[in-house]
Amino acid sequence: MSFNATGLPSPYDSTDLNSLSWLEQQWVAWYIYIGNPVLATGLMSFLLHEIVYFGRSIPWVIIDAMPYFRRWKLQAAKIPSPQEQWQCTKQVLFSHFMIELPVIWFFHPMAEMFGMSTYEVPLPSLRELAPQVAFFFVFEDIFHYFAHQALHYGPLYRHIHKIHHKYSAPFGLAAEYAHPAEVAILGTGTIAGPLLYCYFMRNLHIFTVYIWITLRLFQAIDAHSGYDFPWSLQHILPFWSGAEHHDFHHMAFTNNFSTSFRWCDRIFGTDDKYRAYRARVDAAKKQMKSASKEQRDDMERKLMAEVEAEGIRAEAEVERGMQQKTKVQ
Ligand SMILES: [Zn+2]
Ligand SMILES: [Zn+2]
Repeated sequence: MSFNATGLPSPYDSTDLNSLSWLEQQWVAWYIYIGNPVLATGLMSFLLHEIVYFGRSIPWVIIDAMPYFRRWKLQAAKIPSPQEQWQCTKQVLFSHFMIELPVIWFFHPMAEMFGMSTYEVPLPSLRELAPQVAFFFVFEDIFHYFAHQALHYGPLYRHIHKIHHKYSAPFGLAAEYAHPAEVAILGTGTIAGPLLYCYFMRNLHIFTVYIWITLRLFQAIDAHSGYDFPWSLQHILPFWSGAEHHDFHHMAFTNNFSTSFRWCDRIFGTDDKYRAYRARVDAAKKQMKSASKEQRDDMERKLMAEVEAEGIRAEAEVERGMQQKTKVQ
């Protein structure tokens, strides 16, 4: 199949380009310009990931550098240093270029195999894509919940997931700071939803997948941001996880395994410690109503330190579990 002026028929020959929207015209222009659909989809997917990942992470780097925002930092005493952020960025870039970039070329053939539209126009409308994206959110959340718990099992934790838990107070850029195997395992939850949907429904455009991946990246980066603002999504949608939920997972090492929603942890009871902690903080704050802000902050820091110390013990136990088994063998 050819898209450029090679004399071969183009799939756009029968398309009235003037009837297309501005976005659709850019879409067609991109595929014609690149001339090779596998390359065009691969490159677009890679660029989208880089632009969204860093475009969403950089505002958090700026926020971390501004003391004004500390009042909303979940673990206020732990501000990532520029060195830490740079170290993390280098690692993330390395895996994007060395692992993701080679793999992404399989995306177009795989999408076509499952019957997904790629270069075709028109693009889907909001009414068409919204329920599909909602399904991908729910599918990914359930998949991630179980896969993430499996990654907390001794050997898998020790060899794979421990890297992601390097930061007990995460920051936006650390969202994809993980072992390549973890990226592959958890990334399956993001990609399998669209592929399965497409396989059974035969009606999915890659544009919808890009919208989904963009929202999923926003979700992952924001959940690692370390900030809970009064206007954060979880205060508007109480079932949304957000940073307040996932920050606890990093701080306490346990509980809160899901990504976007609070449902799975609630249903399976893996949010008991998190809820007990929240209740303790709220009760202590109520009791200390007349105390100064410094005293209240001090109390919160103490409670956090307790939870974190417990988390360090729990992490050591998971790792020791693996070591004991190794000894027995
Ligand atoms: Zn974890
Ligand atoms: Zn995390």
